[in-house]
Amino acid sequence: MSKTTDFAILVVAAGRGSRAGPGVPKQYRPLAGKPLIAWTLSTLLKAAPTARLKAAIHRDDLTAYERAVADLETADLERLLPPAFGGELRQDSVRLGLEALAQEDPPGIVLIHDGARPFVSAELLARAHDAASRHGAAVPGLPLTDTVKQVDATTRIIATPRRETLRSVQTPQAFAFDLILAAHRKAAQAGQTGLTDDAAIAEWAGHAVYVFEGERENMKITDTQDFARAEARLLRELPDVRTGQGFDIHALGPGDHVWIGGVKIPHDHSLVGHSDADVLLHAITDAVLGALGDGDIGSHFPPSDPQWRGAASSIFLTAALGKLRARGGMLAHVDAMLIGERPKIGPYRDAIRASVAKIAGVSETRVAVKATTSERLGSLGREEGIAALAIATVRLPTGD
Ligand code: MG
Repeated sequence: MSKTTDFAILVVAAGRGSRAGPGVPKQYRPLAGKPLIAWTLSTLLKAAPTARLKAAIHRDDLTAYERAVADLETADLERLLPPAFGGELRQDSVRLGLEALAQEDPPGIVLIHDGARPFVSAELLARAHDAASRHGAAVPGLPLTDTVKQVDATTRIIATPRRETLRSVQTPQAFAFDLILAAHRKAAQAGQTGLTDDAAIAEWAGHAVYVFEGERENMKITDTQDFARAEARLLRELPDVRTGQGFDIHALGPGDHVWIGGVKIPHDHSLVGHSDADVLLHAITDAVLGALGDGDIGSHFPPSDPQWRGAASSIFLTAALGKLRARGGMLAHVDAMLIGERPKIGPYRDAIRASVAKIAGVSETRVAVKATTSERLGSLGREEGIAALAIATVRLPTGD
């Protein structure tokens, strides 16, 4: 028997998001430094501190999902249940998510929320919970400001519905768990597929569904313009811009490749170091730590510690960026510079840039990778080593 005080939020994120353009599904696309789905989940975890969360995701997106949630605060992660794999239609994904909740520990109330609505507020979630307790089925809605026309196939207007009777509805849609699970099962069994939201499923199953007050701010991010609007809004909340610098140098020794920015480059020598000696990632890591005023790479990952022997240096940068995200910040830009005679970086520059952007979880437009020789002067000119410089710019919320 489920407890009516207990509630869960099912986040629907299994779609392919084709309206936002080609590439990764929109819920995994970077938005102000972290994937859209990470914003939605972290907002929900903070705004509903007693709720359990489950995401319904596409099976192909499991790795992207795991990366997206890796930086959520550890205390919050306890309330994030393993994801459910969705189906072909949104309706299937919701039903499969509900079935997974039913098998694990069914809640009294479930809120079903779009993964692409990151601006949901604590007040809206409280109203949703309250409305579900009172009515069993309720959705947030807004009065229309524009007059709505019904048109035929030739675009001729055939009706003007009275605006006062209309609402545009959003998510989270809020239900008694048993009611909406039964309605979804019934619709699936009946082969009823044309229903575009969960309210419609409940209506179809014969339940009274009520509208409570939604929020204009609770926008759904659908196309590239929405991404730009949402990013501008999130950036306003990160006004404290800081920079940090990093420098690193590693000697060249025997070997047949070097690691630069997470890319393995064939060479007649290798860089010598305790980890994989990725001089570029070390410089960038120090730049990020510098911007945070939080020690340096050696203080966080002492070379004396055997666990870093041969380690992929991406873990250092990932950890430094984890500290940044834990403070609610984002990486705004990295400008990195390699200094050495050989190997020639030009043919690998795009791959290095893409690799750094991927490790950092930001778009490539936020990463610059440059290279120069030292004109055969000094130790670098004699090919005794390779050096790297980096400047990281970060944005933080106002505060300390
Ligand atoms: Mg180093």
